[in-house]
Amino acid sequence: MRKRFGQHFLHDPQVIARIVAAIEPRRGDRVLEIGPGRGALTAPLFDRLGALTAIEIDRDLARHLGARFGPALELINTDVLEVDIAALRGSGEPLRVVGNLPYNISTPLLFRLLEQRTAIRDMHLMLQKEVVDRMVAPPGSKTYGRLTVMLAPWVRIERLLSVGPGAFTPPPKVSSAVVRITPLAMPAFDIGSTASFDRVVRAAFAQRRKTLRNALKGTVAAGVLEQLGIDPRARAETLAAAQYAALARAAG
Ligand code: SAM
Repeated sequence: MRKRFGQHFLHDPQVIARIVAAIEPRRGDRVLEIGPGRGALTAPLFDRLGALTAIEIDRDLARHLGARFGPALELINTDVLEVDIAALRGSGEPLRVVGNLPYNISTPLLFRLLEQRTAIRDMHLMLQKEVVDRMVAPPGSKTYGRLTVMLAPWVRIERLLSVGPGAFTPPPKVSSAVVRITPLAMPAFDIGSTASFDRVVRAAFAQRRKTLRNALKGTVAAGVLEQLGIDPRARAETLAAAQYAALARAAG
């Protein structure tokens, strides 16, 4: 077991069956699995699809998988954060991404997948429960934050199932949950520019305890909050993503 690669292997057949049922893989789907490990999800996916692509960083695991599944499993033995998913898609159908992710890289990986969303049809990901809570949090809740708002223009998120530590070998210290992330054909709202949206959201949540007036000083001109009907004394977690979009448009 390689701790640095966040290796916790799924062994619970019921959990595996429920994840595969949620994915509903169909022959012809182009599935990309991230971190196949010992093949807990790879095997049932492979049975249904006859072929798939997987990215695994661990050389020994990659070798085992290659020997077990043969050439119909396209195995890329590298760090997923270095892979150009759009290039992997090429001119074919968008990819269906699946993964019981290494939790130590889940946030950078989510942002990277988000950047490459036009190459992706949907994603079914096992994540740390806390990350899923942040992804689906409503405004005003404790876990609502930068991640929630940054995802909102681009994707629909559905929490599918909770998974306890006992489903893995070795059991992780945290609980997990599976989500379906579906890139939207059109952004949910106009964010002006990505750079401006990123800047405004980052500034707002950099110090959650500050009022928006103080947090956005230097990012959004004085008076803009009032013009948009936003209380300058409100705090970052009370604003809906669409209001951040309006602020980003005004900030230019
Ligand atoms: N999918 C398997 C399962 O459900 O049993 C393994 C899940 S385990 C939580 C995460 C897997 O991702 C491990 O096999 C690990 O070696 C691999 N991994 C870790 N970091 C990676 C990275 N940066 N790029 C690609 N694979 C990675």
